Amino acid sequence: MSRSFYVDDLSKHFGGFKREYSESDFVLFGVPFDSTSSFRPGSRFGPAAIREASANIETWSWRTGMDFEEIKLHDLGDLAVVHGDAAETIRRVREAVEDIILSKKIPVMLGGEHIITLGALRGVRDTTVVSFDAHFDMRDDYLSNKLSHACVMRRALDELGVKNVVIVGTRASYRDEIEFVKKSGVNYISSQRILNGGAKEAGAWLKEVLADSKKIYISVDMDVLDPAFAPGVGNPEPEGVPTSTLLDLIEEVVDERIVGFDVVEVSPAYDSGVTAVTASKIVYELCCMVAKSIGL
Ligand code: MN
Ligand code: MN
Repeated sequence: MSRSFYVDDLSKHFGGFKREYSESDFVLFGVPFDSTSSFRPGSRFGPAAIREASANIETWSWRTGMDFEEIKLHDLGDLAVVHGDAAETIRRVREAVEDIILSKKIPVMLGGEHIITLGALRGVRDTTVVSFDAHFDMRDDYLSNKLSHACVMRRALDELGVKNVVIVGTRASYRDEIEFVKKSGVNYISSQRILNGGAKEAGAWLKEVLADSKKIYISVDMDVLDPAFAPGVGNPEPEGVPTSTLLDLIEEVVDERIVGFDVVEVSPAYDSGVTAVTASKIVYELCCMVAKSIGL
């Protein structure tokens, strides 16, 4: 049989193509870690599912008028994680992101559960984080664990200060957390307000909140979307925003200050496939929006 019947498995590379690290503007890596998942585990399989989906969707971005195939992105593969050890995994993520930042490239991280974002924030340093999420993730600890996915934005707040943590799409919380968020003055916007006022109004609010930020890191917890649009997540919550509204809102705020982004919490065992496809699409569009805004 001819060797030409054997193909290089491009589904192992995000977007289905390979590009050298040295010629890249974006550097993507996966973090297959889900040890603190409290409801529906399995986001460790998220990066593989998102990559596979990414190699099987079309590349043209109607929003930006760009082709994702022209985006210079290198896929490092997945980080070796230590299951059960969030602190060590966070440390490795921080080092990975520091390396990417040092080589003047933009880190793109695929989760995995949300706690990994803490490592990325430590890697990019002194940034504002915008967390698109149904949840605040502002518990001081969860089940006695301070490094739980449910605490990631509380740890970010500890390290970056209240002005540098913004939560978008909230609709799931409990009394103590709401009281903490209100007392400490965390900037947030609920999914109801986005749905009622639209992406333009929410975008205007977000731009004002971000006016003094020098750097912006975007974290997309896929449960910000309504479960109708993203069923395969660890903690689904009804009354979320549709995919188009999320992308409209992201488009409102992306500018030259974006220093990195992640898409987390895809749990393929609960997915019909649409969550992984949507996660890929969000990465495509974010890369195109960022590339366009900084003139790449
Ligand atoms: Mn989250
Ligand atoms: Mn969430």
